[in-house]
Amino acid sequence: MKFDLHCHSHFSDGNHSPEFLIQRAIANKVTHLAITDHDCVQVFKQPVEVPQELTLIPGVEISCAWNGQEIHVVGLGINVEAQQLTAILDIQQQSRRERAATMAKRLASFTDYDLESYLESLPCISRTRSHIANFLVKEGASKNHQQAFKKYLSRKGKLYCPANWCDLETAISSINSAGGIAVVAHPSRYPFTRKKLLSLLSDFKQAGGAAIETAYSNLDPLARKKLEDACDEMDLYASCGSDFHSVENTWTDIGKFHSFNESKKNAIWNHPRWHFSHNTP
Ligand code: AMP
Ligand code: MN
Ligand code: MN
Ligand code: MN
Repeated sequence: MKFDLHCHSHFSDGNHSPEFLIQRAIANKVTHLAITDHDCVQVFKQPVEVPQELTLIPGVEISCAWNGQEIHVVGLGINVEAQQLTAILDIQQQSRRERAATMAKRLASFTDYDLESYLESLPCISRTRSHIANFLVKEGASKNHQQAFKKYLSRKGKLYCPANWCDLETAISSINSAGGIAVVAHPSRYPFTRKKLLSLLSDFKQAGGAAIETAYSNLDPLARKKLEDACDEMDLYASCGSDFHSVENTWTDIGKFHSFNESKKNAIWNHPRWHFSHNTP
């Protein structure tokens, strides 16, 4: 078995369709794939053909606020029709639209770029800064994605506009009320000391969170060991996923990251609420 429990489709800031992700997962020998779009579950609201050799797990990645810091919480095994979750995701998507509209207006104040029309032309349900970076590169305002973030979209960028995310507790409770398992996404990507990470994990657990990602793309062995230790110390389950967005990002691919052994005791598939088949080839 091979698990990839974090990736994005074109309904958020991924470049590809759900069908492409599924075929890519199968080609890369993944047996269990969770598609976890930013604040959006559209993938699971439309018909999508899943070949028998793959188990597709309904997921989401919710952006939220904890102590003034943005944290991403992945929800796995969610009922995508659940009421509280639907309500929260609607609000988050609206916040994203408003933030993108503010950025579009700001951009129009010093250029003649029409960002709003570009965003309208995309299949995305959740508008992200990544889409705006793509637009800036397409228009020649930035050389690449990274430069677009640096000059326009990061905290100090010309277009930056803070987002109005829900709080950590709300993200966790909406996942739990949908029967899912809440996971702290890519913990090493927050600018935290070990003490602060443990404080986050303590609040996360207190609020009903269950797991953290300890295996993902671009995680060096030392950082991975630190996360595994924090996971054990806080008695949490361990999850894993590529955070794949696009084949253009050649440093990662679906199922292509150093994961832990499938027989690991605290692997997320041993969580009591994990109900997806363990018997697929
Ligand atoms: P948002 O959720 O709208 O703030 O958009 C954030 C998305 O942009 C993330 O999910 C990443 O995919 C991408 N991203 C964030 N920071 C960077 C960066 N510095 N360079 C390139 N992509 C980034
Ligand atoms: Mn993203
Ligand atoms: Mn994330
Ligand atoms: Mn992600």
